[in-house]
Order: sequence, then structure tokens, then C-alpha cells
Amino acid sequence: MLKKILIANRGEIAVRIVRACAEMNIRSVAVYTEADRHALHVKRADEAHFVGEDPLAGYLDPRQLVNLAVQTGCDAIHPGYGFLSENADFARICEARGIRFIGPCAEVIEKMGDKTAARASMIAAGVPVTPGSEGNLADLDEALQVAGEIGYPVMLKATSGGGGRGIRRCDSPEELRSQFPRVISEATKAFGSADVFLEKCIVDPRHIEVQVLADGQANVIHLYERDCSIQRRNQKLIEIAPSPQITPEQRQYLGELAVRAAKAVNYENAGTVEFLVTGHEIYFMEMNTRVQVEHTISEQITGVDIVQEQIRIASGLPLRYRQEDISFRGYALQFRINAEDPKNNFLPSFGRITRYYAPGGPGVRTDTAIYTGYTIPPYYDSMCLKLIVWALTWEEALNRGSRALSDMRVQGVKTTARYYQEILQDVDFRSGEFTTSFVPDHPQLLDYSEKRNPNELALAIAAALAAHAGV
Ligand code: ADP
Ligand code: ADP
Ligand code: MG
Repeated sequence: MLKKILIANRGEIAVRIVRACAEMNIRSVAVYTEADRHALHVKRADEAHFVGEDPLAGYLDPRQLVNLAVQTGCDAIHPGYGFLSENADFARICEARGIRFIGPCAEVIEKMGDKTAARASMIAAGVPVTPGSEGNLADLDEALQVAGEIGYPVMLKATSGGGGRGIRRCDSPEELRSQFPRVISEATKAFGSADVFLEKCIVDPRHIEVQVLADGQANVIHLYERDCSIQRRNQKLIEIAPSPQITPEQRQYLGELAVRAAKAVNYENAGTVEFLVTGHEIYFMEMNTRVQVEHTISEQITGVDIVQEQIRIASGLPLRYRQEDISFRGYALQFRINAEDPKNNFLPSFGRITRYYAPGGPGVRTDTAIYTGYTIPPYYDSMCLKLIVWALTWEEALNRGSRALSDMRVQGVKTTARYYQEILQDVDFRSGEFTTSFVPDHPQLLDYSEKRNPNELALAIAAALAAHAGV
């Protein structure tokens, strides 16, 4: 078993990894830049090392991080998500220096991180993919030609994209003409690659993804699916496991496809295979070769600790479970509480958390790195907390979500929490049938009043009545 792990990340995922280490009696080493001097992952890890004044550079410097791992006597690095987690060079440098990279090998990261290469591998493995360009597009003329063949609307996508960026829907040749240079410039800035490709836009799809685990001994299993259709601008807001809107046959087929996809590339460690589902059609979209933000809900329904499994696999141990050992129970929802103002176009709202109160009670989990008095720095992702609820039935899970959201207090910054309360009350959402168009199709859910929540209001009325009665 690994003995000491350097965590090349920050925020809630770094804290999540520290927790896994602590439960496995593994020492954890945090890294931090100046802006994160007071961050929770620094306080929670067994050791913490400063990696520079710049808020980001230290988290993105493979050589410095691997050197630090060697110097501090670590035998592995956990990259978390984002940052260097899907950087093949980082995995390669780790390997060269005798540090275990907790994830798949560099070649697999490369193959799956490149969306066109991944599509090619999946086609070869017999996994259905969305119709699209064969590889990257040479120029606008080729884009127009391919789009003409597959038919509009099309999705223009950055080949190295991630985090919902570098994707544009184009409904006509005119739109494709105007979006083409934009996507290229966004891709170059965000991902350091100008490569783009086209695929058919699936209208009103569901985003369904399957969590897989694969060990170094060719055992590959899945932990069922997550429904991530509740998105804004291709970014997930609320995730649900299992999906309330697929049939048992589709569930079985999705699991088989995901395992087939992982086996086809000799996958090792935890990964996620993302699909678009519409009616009875299922298309492979991409594979993420890392732990995902929403891994939590699969943990809640299956009881498997995915981060601990990642560490065990990287230690060279076989999976502890066979597919038939995996069952799921109830429903879990994860709410990404972002420090953003939904009423102001989801503008990031950074600053000091004047008060944080974590919700509790049965079936409630919070993964976060905020605390009362903490100042959210403006340099990173705006997601500041993940609220996860679990209950036996869909309806109970919805009610538990509402209750937990109203228990919770995150004051000092604007958050998306209140908006999620509105979504939870919406009949279309509660019906359990929705597509990736749910958010744009329900703009009225942003018309909530900022006033107090119903509980507070009830208490205020009770207090006023009591005062009036003279008690
Ligand atoms: P998940 O796929 O786990 O749900 P997201 O797509 O929300 O995660 O991305 C998680 C984090 O990783 C975000 O901060 C996002 O900006 C970052 N990220 C994801 N993919 C990439 C990428 N290819 N390049 C840079 N950052 C990425
Ligand atoms: P990222 O790497 O940024 O996560 P994805 O390829 O996973 O990018 O796409 C992100 C989201 O964009 C999907 O969850 C889906 O909502 C939307 N999307 C992507 N491709 C298509 C498509 N071909 N048709 C319709 N929606 C799509
Ligand atoms: Mg994706």
C-alpha cells in the first residue's frame, strides 16, 4: 500500500483526498500558493508546502510538484480534477521519477483527453458515437462541408476541451462561420491547442455518465450511472444517481458500454464514460480520465469509496469488488453550490464568508473547503461547496434536498443555493424527466425573491404573534 501521497490540488477535492488518506493511514502532503495560505486543505493535510506567490503557477508546474513529492518522501501523487489531472506529461514525469501517478498511464490520458482520438478508439471498439468529423477539421471549408453532410444543428468542439468550455452549437452555415474562429481562439487560450472538430448536435439530450473502476489486473467494473442533465452552458449544476429517467435495460446496456470502452483502451484506475441519451439512442461523448466532481453520488448509492479505490489500484492491489458485488440503493443528488449570483448572469461572487453553517441530519453530506471567516480567492473555480443528499426514494431525496438547502447557511457571498430550491419545487424537475435544456427552458425559476426562506418567515411570524399575545 502507498504510504505518503502528495495532493496536487486545492479546495474541496484536496480535502476529500486528505480524508481518504487519513482513513487508510496514509500520510498526506498538501501544496499551496500565496492565495491559499489560509485554505482548509493546508490545515487538514499532515504536511503542507508552499509552491509560490502566483495563485496558479505552483499548481500547474509538473516538475516542481514531482520534485517536491520526491523531496518529501512521497510514493505517489493524487492530481484530483482540473489542474494537471488530465496532463499526460505530468503522469510521464511522475513515472520517470518513481512517483506513482494516481490515475491511468500517460498514453491512455493522451488518447482519451483528445476527443477525436477517443472517438476513433470507441468506433474501433464498437461503442456508438455521435456522427461527426473524422478527426480534427483542417479549416472552415472542411467544417462547412462536414456540417452539410451530417446536417444542422451541429456542435463545434475543442478537441482538448473540458469543463464545458470550447463548445458551440451552430444552427446554420452562417453561425458556423462566425463561431469557427471563436472556438479556435477559446480553445487556444484555455487548452493550448487550436484543434477543433464537429459532431451532430443531439437536440434535447440527457447527459448520462457511467463511473468505472479498473485495476492493473484487467478487472473492470462500473458503479452505475449519474444523470447530469441539469446544466447551464454545458456545465453541470445538479447531478443525480441513479438516473430517474432510464429503463433497467438502458442501465444495463450503458454499464456494458462503459466497461467495453474502458477495456478497449486498457484503462486503469477510476474513470467516467459520458454519454448522450435521447429516446432509445445512446451515444458516447467523452471519457474523463480522473476522479469527477460528482463521484460523491455514486459513493452514496453504492457505498464504494471511489477515492480509496483509486489509491488501492495505484498501490497495485486488485479491485475489492466484482460486478455482482455492486448494488445501488435509493437516490442521491449533488448540488454544486457556486459562489455566483444567479440573478446577475451567474457572475462570480468572491469574498469573505461571514458565516457558514453546514447542514446535517440523516442522509446529508457536505464536501467543501470553506469555513466561517474564510475568504474565497478570485483566482479559482467558483464552486465552493458540494451538498449531497441521499434517501430511499426519489421524492424523499427531493424533500431532503430542500430541507438541507434551507438548513445550510453560506453568508457573505452570493450562491446558487436559493436557485436550487426553486428547481427542487419545479414540477418538471420533480417528475424526474428532464434534458440538458431544462435550465434555459425554465428562466422563471430565476425570479425568486431574495427574502428569507419559508422556515425563517414562519419563525418570524410565530415570534410576532407571541409578542402580540404578550407571552
Ligand atoms: P466533472 O467532469 O468532474 O463534472 P467539470 O467538467 O465540472 O468536472 O470540471 C471540473 C474542473 O476541472 C473545473 O474546474 C474545470 O474547469 C476543470 N477542467 C475540466 N476539464 C479541463 C480541461 N480539459 N482543461 C482544463 N481544466 C479542465
Ligand atoms: P466537456 O469536456 O467540457 O465536459 P463534453 O463533450 O462532455 O465537454 O460536453 C459537455 C456538455 O455539452 C454535455 O454534457 C452536453 O450537455 C453538451 N453537449 C456536448 N456534445 C453535445 C452534442 N453532440 N449534442 C448535444 N449536446 C452536447
Ligand atoms: Mg464532459
